[in-house]
Amino acid sequence: MPVKSKAPRRKKGAADSPSVSIPEAIRLLSGAYEPLPHEGRLEPAEELVFTILSQHTSDINSGRAFQRLQERFGTMEAVAQAEVSDIEAAIASGGLAKIKAPRIKLVLNRVLELNGSLDLYFLKEMPLAEAKAWLRQLPGVGPKTAGIILSFSLGMPAMAVDTHIFRVCQRLGFIGPKVTADKAHDILEAVVAPEQVYQFHVSLITHGRQTCKAQRPLCHQCVVAEGCPSRKQFVSVSEI
Ligand code: SF4
Repeated sequence: MPVKSKAPRRKKGAADSPSVSIPEAIRLLSGAYEPLPHEGRLEPAEELVFTILSQHTSDINSGRAFQRLQERFGTMEAVAQAEVSDIEAAIASGGLAKIKAPRIKLVLNRVLELNGSLDLYFLKEMPLAEAKAWLRQLPGVGPKTAGIILSFSLGMPAMAVDTHIFRVCQRLGFIGPKVTADKAHDILEAVVAPEQVYQFHVSLITHGRQTCKAQRPLCHQCVVAEGCPSRKQFVSVSEI
């Protein structure tokens, strides 16, 4: 008499566990893409303003808006003192200037209130969790913005999970399907080795942009396809 399988049923929508490890994914993905062009590091306060300008717009538009802001005011201290209408005019090319100009003014002035200056290099001397908490008290600063400032400007092993990284991590099973983007920061930070955080960020973001796209991921040309539990959702059985 045939014995019925006792394999537990998986809940609909639950992620399979990853078959590719995080270090292996970093290794494979780093080898698959050209390194990102090295962009000079911004000062932490500049990075803070740049992340606000980057929200809901293209890299080209935000880069242009930031450049105009620098040309118009010279320093972030001058931006903090400026009229909102002047900031708005300077960043008009970046989109959503009416919303972003008051946010920029507000956050810079909050840093001045708390710290007495816009020099945020003291964060580098703090334990990572404290540095993050310091930034998170600023208006509009969530885990992603804090992660970008700490990682890109200060070289600390903070995770910055954008939409591409979040999607790729879910598909690869590094985070579960119910994990929010905010929670993903702490979960990933706990499992990615500190010395690999930057490379993790760069390789997953590139993979998300170029291959593991939101709508039609290009699984047939994906270097981590063999270890990806989501591949079967996107590739017909005959192609596997
Ligand atoms: S196999 Fe497909 S879904 Fe999985 S990581 Fe690669 S591109 Fe994304």
